[in-house]
Amino acid sequence: MASSHGKPVRKVVIAGGGTAGWTVAAALAKNLGSMLAIELVESDAIGTVGVGESTIPTARRFHEILGLSEADFVRATGASFKLGISFENWAREGERYFHSFGSTGRSTWMADFQHIWLEAQALGVAGPIGDYSLETQAALAGKFRTGGNVPLNYAYHLDATAYGLFLRDFATKFGAVRTEGRITEVRRDGLSGDIAALVLDSGAVIEGDLFIDCTGFHGLLIEEALETGFEDWTHWLSTDRALAVQTAATGPARPYTRAIAHDAGWQWQIPLQRRVGNGLVYASAHLSDDAALERLAQRLEGEMLTQPRLIRFRTGTRRKAWNRNCIAMGLSSGFVEPLESTSIHLIMIAVTRLMQLFPFNGVTEALADRYNALSRAELEGIRDFIILHYHLNGREGEPFWDACRALELPDTLAARIELFRESATAFQASDELFRVDSWVQVMLGQGLAPEGYHKLGQMIGRDRLRQSLAELERGIGQQVAALPTHQQFLDQYTALVAA
Ligand code: FAD
Repeated sequence: MASSHGKPVRKVVIAGGGTAGWTVAAALAKNLGSMLAIELVESDAIGTVGVGESTIPTARRFHEILGLSEADFVRATGASFKLGISFENWAREGERYFHSFGSTGRSTWMADFQHIWLEAQALGVAGPIGDYSLETQAALAGKFRTGGNVPLNYAYHLDATAYGLFLRDFATKFGAVRTEGRITEVRRDGLSGDIAALVLDSGAVIEGDLFIDCTGFHGLLIEEALETGFEDWTHWLSTDRALAVQTAATGPARPYTRAIAHDAGWQWQIPLQRRVGNGLVYASAHLSDDAALERLAQRLEGEMLTQPRLIRFRTGTRRKAWNRNCIAMGLSSGFVEPLESTSIHLIMIAVTRLMQLFPFNGVTEALADRYNALSRAELEGIRDFIILHYHLNGREGEPFWDACRALELPDTLAARIELFRESATAFQASDELFRVDSWVQVMLGQGLAPEGYHKLGQMIGRDRLRQSLAELERGIGQQVAALPTHQQFLDQYTALVAA
């Protein structure tokens, strides 16, 4: 497979200008703009999916790579700060646990913290595991600050539309060209079969060497033109609809996303500076659209600022993200539902990976294979992590949740759960996004009780365990006490960056 007969890549055409398209354009223009011409085609008439407002901490690293100022970003996108996700009613109705971005307790080279904590708990000298996480405690106290001497690991809540515009300004400043128009034809080279050009409704023909498909769920280039194929994962993740609506803030912005389970899915609450993003995710086999709308309306806390929007989706992945001279990024490459807010990260990592493997001398099969293998490994890890939340539930008697518990799991996940159940051992494989801390917080939070654990805690002994855990808790308490509230910090920060 040689792109247009192995010809060097000098021009990249990006189809689609949602979060994916502009993220890709910004990264390529800033970092490879001196080597490439970059053109992005988008259609205002079609619009974007309009959701995707909760991120994970990798966004900060990506912004650093681009040289984006945090202050400019926060001002432009109405962003607030996020320390993790509060999972409510997942293990059982009325129960809650927190998946924070920080590290929990202190691990040693021999055993991760959960082993030590499990022994301490068995001896009655430990509180809930979240007591030993700075980010969890700060989040629950509604506290936050960047910088200073309290090292919080954080991400953002942002306005998706504003973020797209912010990245658009940045990308065009670095030379990316924006073309408005509807793509009506994807023209292929008669000899190689590669994509040669996009034809717009105006009749304009946009030629290129490499095409990035950011056209959203339907994948205009990767699927409709190249027929790459889709691997369906709905047998593992059966939610397929979301209703999204924005509401006015009714109180101080919480520094975390809420994910609240209901009998056929879950509901999100994403607090921005001045408004809240809300959504109800559900399985249409278990809840009708009308009932979902009614449920969402009942659960909203503030005045509606927009009309609820219905979004249909299918969980799964393109068989190849990179096929011929086309790479799908964003929703066109596939979708794992938004429970852990991973999609924007996947766009950022995809374009980072592309810059690392860039086919300057022409597309080759070896480069595409490497890219596809890395992308798939990461995506499968995320998929397993999301399934974990659904599978380990204690909501007995509700058909949706009963079916989730009865799932036949991917082998990779089944082995991971068994390992934790037997020995409290969790791991992060080399291509995986989620750290040991994440797996442990969710497995324990969802009620998976390990039958055994490492004996390090026993060797440490009851008194030292009690003492060191108490010190840890005290230290965290003092750090949290020294922080301003998230809202106070936001008010100061936004006043400062507006000045
Ligand atoms: P889109 O926003 O759909 O953009 C597609 C672009 O292609 C548009 O510009 C459109 O105009 C253009 N286009 C399409 N067809 C044509 C054509 N024929 N001609 C010209 N232009 C065309 N991600 C997170 O990280 N965190 C979250 O909290 C989160 N929540 C989500 C909740 C839901 C319910 C869903 C469905 C997704 C969520 N996501 C989340 C994912 C996130 O929304 C997307 O990853 C992100 O918005 C990128 O979308 P996109 O740019 O790929 O697609």
